[in-house]
Amino acid sequence: MSYVHPMWHHSVLAPEHAPAPVVLERAEGVYLWDREGNRYIDGLASFGACIVGHGRPELAQAAYDQMSSGAHLAPVFGCTNDVSRRLAERLLALTGHSGGSVRFATSGSEAVEAAFRIALNYHLNRGDTERRIILATEGSYHGTTVATLAAAGRGENRHFMRDLDDMFVRLPATPQQEEAASAEFLEALRSTIERVGPHRIAAFVAEPIPVSFGIRIPHHDHWRKVKELLHEHGILYIADEVLNGFGRTGELFAEQHFGVTGDLITMSKGLSSGYFPISACVASAAVTAAFDEYGERALRHMGTYSAHAAGCAVAMRTIDIIEDEALVENARIQGARVGAGLTALAAEFPGRVHPPTGLGLFWTVVLNPDGDRQLAREVLAECRARGMITQANGNVLYFYLPLVVTAEEVDESLVILSESFRAVLK
Ligand code: PMP
Repeated sequence: MSYVHPMWHHSVLAPEHAPAPVVLERAEGVYLWDREGNRYIDGLASFGACIVGHGRPELAQAAYDQMSSGAHLAPVFGCTNDVSRRLAERLLALTGHSGGSVRFATSGSEAVEAAFRIALNYHLNRGDTERRIILATEGSYHGTTVATLAAAGRGENRHFMRDLDDMFVRLPATPQQEEAASAEFLEALRSTIERVGPHRIAAFVAEPIPVSFGIRIPHHDHWRKVKELLHEHGILYIADEVLNGFGRTGELFAEQHFGVTGDLITMSKGLSSGYFPISACVASAAVTAAFDEYGERALRHMGTYSAHAAGCAVAMRTIDIIEDEALVENARIQGARVGAGLTALAAEFPGRVHPPTGLGLFWTVVLNPDGDRQLAREVLAECRARGMITQANGNVLYFYLPLVVTAEEVDESLVILSESFRAVLK
């Protein structure tokens, strides 16, 4: 069988196939249209990627201009292109890592792979040859390659964890807000480091605000304390901002809520707002100092499409739009409206719908926590029938809107969600 769609056979596109997938044809602002002309609010923001809204001519123009004058300009074997240099400088400035370096790739998974690779090589280059283990938390998602699946090691993907048993050691899930829960996590981290042996651990990876079990926002000191403990033992801290980054949570990077910076920061999705497949792994100056440009201590990590000129040009323009249109601030303003609306909705179904969690335009609602996991699917179907696309993982319903959303569009999406919840939960 040839799979041309994620997890789907292309025969689902045949008109007679049931249940029919939504065959998307067009998109503008926060809306998507299918081939029958039905309009939907994009309540998943293109898998969390769409920050600046759909159909932006400025981004098409940025790609057109770069593609017309040199699309790829592959920066390998002694060549480079200037737009990737400018984007790297900009990302280093935005993350506070001046003097650091950036490794570009095409997907979030590859950015996380690059972070693993850089962490392992960092220690090797410093003569710390035993540091081969990466610590990962329960419930963070890091990608779809073998190593990133092993790091996440969730549910049906757990066998990948076994395949790479020697490389990853699992910690509990990122705790919710309470300080005591953070202290418990820190204790688990401390005892794991002791048990495994700090001299064997290269890095720790987590999403600053993970989503899989419903969005979890830890105590504001959590990540700073985690990083301090890691550094006491020479362990690098990798912040996976692939989904959190570029304003989604109401700060440009989610780690800014916690006043901390990853030694390695991975990003993708919002970097180009989904207009071009591009990702990046930003490394601090201290990490970068362990590498040379050439020779034994060089990072031998290439990719045909790494630092693709057109992708970098689209990313540059995306960041201009995020800044010029104050979209991070809009995420905070409209996010408060989403939070209030979801809280009121959840209150209609005590015990059956948990109070929502989230910040910025990054929200989840957990349905029927102890019972039927089909309910979230039924709510999705109702939303779709009423003109909104979103997604669920088990009984966790995701709700992410593009950051250009207006108050009227937030209200329209909340009406669809409310009607859908009432239709399913009565
Ligand atoms: N890390 C996180 C936090 C993600 O949310 C994702 C994608 N959902 C990835 C990594 C992997 O990115 P991609 O699907 O582009 O490989």
